[in-house]
Amino acid sequence: MNGIPNSPQPLWRDTTIDSFPQLDRDMETDVTVIGSGITGITTAYFLVKKGFKVVLLEAGKVINGTTGYTTAKLSAQHGLIYDHLIRTFGKETAKKYYLANQEGLHYIDDIRTDLKIDCDFSYQPSIVYSAAPSGNRKIEKEAEAYKDLGIDGGLADNSVLPFPIQSAVKMNQQAQFHPLKYLKSLLIYLKQKDTHIFENTRAVDIKKGTLPEVKTRKGHSVLSDHVVIASHFPFKDLNGMYFARLHVERSYTIAVKTNGPPPKGMYLSTEEPKKSLRHALGSNGEELLLIGGEGHTSGQSENTYNHYEKLKEFAEKNFSVKDIPYRWSSQDISTLDRIPYIGPITRNNPNIYVATGFAKWGMSNGTVAGKVISDLITGNGSPYEKLFSPSRFNASQDVKNFTKENMDVAKELFKGKLHRKETDMENLQPNEGGIVNYRGKKLGAYKASNGGVSLVDTTCTHMGCDLQWNTAECSWDCPCHGSRFTPSGEVIEGPATKPLKNYHN
Ligand SMILES: Cc1cc2nc3c(=O)[nH]c(=O)nc-3n(C[C@H](O)[C@H](O)[C@H](O)COP(=O)(O)OP(=O)(O)OC[C@H]3O[C@@H](n4cnc5c(N)ncnc54)[C@H](O)[C@@H]3O)c2cc1C
Repeated sequence: MNGIPNSPQPLWRDTTIDSFPQLDRDMETDVTVIGSGITGITTAYFLVKKGFKVVLLEAGKVINGTTGYTTAKLSAQHGLIYDHLIRTFGKETAKKYYLANQEGLHYIDDIRTDLKIDCDFSYQPSIVYSAAPSGNRKIEKEAEAYKDLGIDGGLADNSVLPFPIQSAVKMNQQAQFHPLKYLKSLLIYLKQKDTHIFENTRAVDIKKGTLPEVKTRKGHSVLSDHVVIASHFPFKDLNGMYFARLHVERSYTIAVKTNGPPPKGMYLSTEEPKKSLRHALGSNGEELLLIGGEGHTSGQSENTYNHYEKLKEFAEKNFSVKDIPYRWSSQDISTLDRIPYIGPITRNNPNIYVATGFAKWGMSNGTVAGKVISDLITGNGSPYEKLFSPSRFNASQDVKNFTKENMDVAKELFKGKLHRKETDMENLQPNEGGIVNYRGKKLGAYKASNGGVSLVDTTCTHMGCDLQWNTAECSWDCPCHGSRFTPSGEVIEGPATKPLKNYHN
């Protein structure tokens, strides 16, 4: 792929991580945590520290969800959010959001210090910039919001980047780190404390009650006082309407070796499609510039390779590029009002918790989620309970975005297979997927590099939307709620829990 690795090469996943067994029996424990990304592992960590027994269930390999494919900026500067939060919710809520995320940052700093984790953690300024004059007013308003809220930062010099920008707003003393080096050590800690961690163990159902029971795909169950759904998109809804309240977006990252050192600091553009920059160390200690962005609704891009090409164009225009050794992409979830849902899944299920909707800011938010949920489970309460409550309702934001989100889903459901472009099976190139007509049925076909073909029904097993082939990641992706499947139909990520119907050709 023209100077970009042909297949995904995620930088963080170069780190070797222990393997864990599959659950092969029924169990009882204090808390069952479902999902081993930053949210699940941090929740388990805080609970174990407080003396709880935890079972951690992971559908695939640990830290191989979005957390394994992040950019890992650790910041309370979430784009231009504070002016929006003040206008929508008022100063008190905006300040709480800032404080919660600053706490998230400092928990990671404290934990890596306590456990002596070498995870390339460093404090950096975080900067949002506008490359066009039209963004200047927004930047100014965000700087005013910082002043109102007492945030350490403000307008920044517009010579901070090696290419021309119009204006910028800076937050001081933010951070970046290597998420897998950090979380790997938390898993080692959990193991030392006799926490049961299971891989290849997909939770498929939760029977609610005083002692909720988690059922796994292999038919085992875990009974506990509390369940935490840290599966990114909640795989179980329990009438919380999450499927109608969450929006999933895929975005892309390349790691670039530049001639000369990459700029220090962390950057994000205001203009769409966004560009996100930070520096990082490669596995051989070499300095890299991570360039991310090019986001779009998951499952709604005709050719996902193009997004990497666009990032490469941006890199070549603005930096002296030597090599692009890594590329990866992943997806994250937003709520209707830009504040995550962290807390009991519904008012009627106080012992089943959810943490989702981090809007690409899950390093701090996911860590805060672990603290908030563990505080609620211990009965101590949390100063952030109301802020993040999944049962909140904000008339002005929620109604508008709920309507937009669900119109989009309805459009995808209606479109179904009607407008799908078909191709002939013989025309498929190795490693290519597409819709074919097979014995009168429209099916999804994938031709492997050895010529073998997989055929699947491309109807998503979650809610029936028609899946789109993702060229760059070789997967079938749902345009409605972000479920993803391998070419042969196995679930890569939820909310779907059932595989696609596979047709043996
Ligand atoms: C390209 C990109 C860049 C980003 N950059 C940043 C950044 O710079 N800073 C920042 O703060 N945030 C960033 N984010 C966001 C951040 O990475 C995510 O919000 C965060 O990683 C989500 O963590 P999680 O633990 O909630 O989910 P995940 O890491 O996805 O973990 C969920 C886990 O649950 C498992 N699971 C799912 N269903 C089941 C089931 N039924 N049973 C058992 N296990 C299950 C999955 O396999 C997975 O391992 C970025 C996101 C993207 C997409």
